[in-house]
Parts: sequence; C-alpha cells; structure tokens
Amino acid sequence: MSESSLYHLVCRECAEEQVVESAAAAKQRAADHEALTGHRLDFARVA
Ligand SMILES: [Zn+2]
Repeated sequence: MSESSLYHLVCRECAEEQVVESAAAAKQRAADHEALTGHRLDFARVA
C-alpha cells in the first residue's frame, strides 16, 4: 500500500518538532503533546 506520507509537526509555543509517517500518528503526537504541555502542534503534510 502507498502509506508513504510524511507529516511535519511543529509547536508554536515551544521547540517541539517531529516528523511522522501518517496522519493518524500526527494526530496522536499532537494529542500527546497537548496532554503533556497544553500546547497545540500544527501539522502539515510534506510528502
Ligand atoms: Zn509545545
């Protein structure tokens, strides 16, 4: 299957930055970061 997307996550409120391979992972990371810090991660598909 062609699940080869990349999503770049960036926090506007701290230095957090990650690249993940699926929208589901991006949403999970964003939820985790928000749970830990109260910050919102923005994510954009980059590939
Ligand atoms: Zn943050």
